[in-house]
Amino acid sequence: MARKKKTTRRTCAWCHKPTTLPAVYAADTPLMDWLEEKIDLVAKSKHIKRSDIWGEQSDWAKLGLTPGFENELLAYDSLLCTVTRKHICKTCLVDDYNLWLKYYSKIDDNPDNIDIIFEDLT
Ligand SMILES: [Zn+2]
Repeated sequence: MARKKKTTRRTCAWCHKPTTLPAVYAADTPLMDWLEEKIDLVAKSKHIKRSDIWGEQSDWAKLGLTPGFENELLAYDSLLCTVTRKHICKTCLVDDYNLWLKYYSKIDDNPDNIDIIFEDLT
């Protein structure tokens, strides 16, 4: 008797391509290069630091951001803060990690950064 090979079809929660990787805890959105870039550009144009816009201490009331940009940041923030178990394909994980390195690895008040700080000490 022929047995059907059991295939569990998993798709990447971010790009919807098939993936065989096990589920991981991940945010509802990957990091978005264009939005991260926009944060940098707006910070530059206002002569403030990136962390003044996108940081624990940021006070948007003082910055005069456009309502549209504020909405983008609010939506992005809530997606990034919603972490659930999901399947993410390798391409997305690698892309996301590279974007994280590009935009977040140099922030020293980020607790996730602690392993990099240790590397610097050796
Ligand atoms: Zn993917």
